Amino acid sequence: TKDDIKSYLFRNAFVLLTVTAVIVGTILGFSLRPYKMSYRQVKYFSFPGELLMRMLQMLVLPLIISSLVTGMAALDSKASGKMGMRAVVYYMTTTIIAVVIGIIIVIIIHPGKGTKENMYREGKIVQVTAADAFLDLIRNMFPPNLVEACFKQFKTSYEKRSFKVPIQSNETLLGAVVNNVSEAMETLTRIREELVPVPGSVNGVNALGLVVFSMCFGFVIGNMKEQGQALRDFFDSLNEAIMRLVAVVMWYAPLGILFLIAGKIVEMEDMGVIGGQLAMYTVTVIIGLLIHAVIVLPLLYFLVTRKNPWVFIGGLLQALFTALGTSSSSATLPITFKCLEENNGVDKRITRFVLPVGATINMDGTALYEALAAIFIAQVNNFELNFGQIITISITATAASIGAAGIPQAGLVTMVIVLTSVGLPTDDITLIIAVDWFLDRLRTTTNVLGDSLGAGVVEHLSRHELKNRDAEMGNSVIEE
Ligand code: ASP
Repeated sequence: TKDDIKSYLFRNAFVLLTVTAVIVGTILGFSLRPYKMSYRQVKYFSFPGELLMRMLQMLVLPLIISSLVTGMAALDSKASGKMGMRAVVYYMTTTIIAVVIGIIIVIIIHPGKGTKENMYREGKIVQVTAADAFLDLIRNMFPPNLVEACFKQFKTSYEKRSFKVPIQSNETLLGAVVNNVSEAMETLTRIREELVPVPGSVNGVNALGLVVFSMCFGFVIGNMKEQGQALRDFFDSLNEAIMRLVAVVMWYAPLGILFLIAGKIVEMEDMGVIGGQLAMYTVTVIIGLLIHAVIVLPLLYFLVTRKNPWVFIGGLLQALFTALGTSSSSATLPITFKCLEENNGVDKRITRFVLPVGATINMDGTALYEALAAIFIAQVNNFELNFGQIITISITATAASIGAAGIPQAGLVTMVIVLTSVGLPTDDITLIIAVDWFLDRLRTTTNVLGDSLGAGVVEHLSRHELKNRDAEMGNSVIEE
């Protein structure tokens, strides 16, 4: 019908605009590079991009809370339990596959040539064990103060000039982690004498804690009968209102993406500075991410659903480009919702439930990256890893990817967990900082792809529960 054609064009206009934004942004960025803008000029220039980031981030918090609460409340406990299990199995499987790919690729290509002498200094840092990493993850699931959890995730106070990792009961590991990276960043700043943003200083949210709380809360009000109706209605209409705001921000997104990309290209390091090993490392990461994103994930989707993964991915393009532009899977979340629900027709009960959790804990790209980077650093240091240490790296890389916030370069911060678990020098993170802004974008895109395909997989596996529920509710689908 005419309306169908109209909405088809409308949707494709969005994709077209976004692709154009990426291309124009890249060209603009490269053509402005010769002018060597100052730090301040770059900041002014990328201002429209910064605004996009802020708008998206502004929507994320109410979006996560309202969609999880309504998502949980809309399902009966048996159905939500089953779906939850499926989602968790999917997240774990894909994350572990990603880690294994990362490890195999970096061992085969071997980008680190061991040019530095063994830099391992005993007693320099308190070893963080895999168990510590896990305990800390669980600790973060239960934020003692919900309001504070909305404000910041990282503790930024740190002892200057000391690499000691303070693990006190009231201090989270992530806090300790930031100490080290800030140090590393400071060293780097001194070396390069320019401003380097400290990842931990981003006002990250303890999304994991909010996810756990919202799910429990939704579960409880879902079972409250009439007494819960006011709350269910409230969160339903909050969710609807936020999604309408998302629709507005989507119109601004292409412009924001253009300037985010152009601004980053203008300010990036001269590629000539990046030496052979780092170039090899970059290529290794790209190959690993490609294998996971282009082969493994689509194949898995196909095997489970028997549907064409590329049609599904086609509907996601705007979310994927937003991930590329913002390097933040949580900032991309609003767009991911829109793409999945409107382009791919994924059931809202699934997206509301699976996407916020996925954006918070399921980071395939980050997991692959952390394992790969840790082994690269070992190679550079001529540090022989035994099998046990490689297993430790895979466990801590998984934990670190779950614990990483969906914000730019969070993976670099949580990598300290992986490095310290096998006694690798954390200040060697400085070796890879120069290319991280770029690789971060690629792993974020992989993260968003993994979450979205996961929603498709879980929807397919849960089709019976969804149908039964529809029948129960007198054939009326929740939202429509
Ligand atoms: N930037 C990534 C994300 O938002 C996390 C990371 O640094 O790996 O998904």
